[in-house]
Amino acid sequence: MECETIATRPLRVKFRHLLSAVRHVTLTAGRLALDVALPTLCVSCREPVAGEGVCANCWSRMSFIAPPYCARLGIPFAYDPGPGLLSMEAIAAPPAYQRARAAVRYEETAKALVHGLKYQDRTDLAPIMGRWMARAGQEILDDADVLVPVPLHWRRGWSRRFNQSGALAKIIEKQTGVPVAGALRRVKPTLQQVGLSKSERARNVQGAFTVPHEKRAAIEGRHVVLIDDVLTSGATVDACARALLQARAGQVDVLVFARVVESFKSPI
Ligand SMILES: [Zn+2]
Repeated sequence: MECETIATRPLRVKFRHLLSAVRHVTLTAGRLALDVALPTLCVSCREPVAGEGVCANCWSRMSFIAPPYCARLGIPFAYDPGPGLLSMEAIAAPPAYQRARAAVRYEETAKALVHGLKYQDRTDLAPIMGRWMARAGQEILDDADVLVPVPLHWRRGWSRRFNQSGALAKIIEKQTGVPVAGALRRVKPTLQQVGLSKSERARNVQGAFTVPHEKRAAIEGRHVVLIDDVLTSGATVDACARALLQARAGQVDVLVFARVVESFKSPI
């Protein structure tokens, strides 16, 4: 390589580009042929499914979240206490964000959808999940200025190849016209939240997010809706909301596909 002349190098580079282009076309064609040959499988029970991603049986077992729920946290109530009532959690430990909404409870089928999108390259699931989110979040999306997906740490983003929150945000943008801005950066590598206690989760993500200087204009004084796939303890979206508010966002709400609900709560 060292004695390679300047004249031959561009040719070799061109040849390599040509090879990789041929490889790309071949792979794409192969994938297209596979798509035609194989029916879509239900992400939960693996039965072939005619429509999108989830079969009718698994769909019927999904728990969609609808009012009555806590006006702030969106936690479902066992009965309707009237408009605006809050849950015990919202009063005892109010989060940095204003309101949270979720499409479904994080149960069997919802878990399969989240895992399919996140780990199994089932990008075909994003449209259906994003559309349910747009519906569940209508109230907070109505006067929203910008959608901000929760970012992955670059190393995790690389290994999973894409950010599932970003994919969901793009679908919601298409549904509602509210633009996506990748305004948050993860500045501290964090552990997986799975298996950590509530206080460990909060400590793990504390100071993990920031708004880079050049992104501040996109959120300053704006009503931001944070987008994520799952809300468990709320520690991640709380840390994100703090970073956004510190960068002078006007208001931060949260919209997720699924949330953990321990049981139906009575309002206080
Ligand atoms: Zn199924």
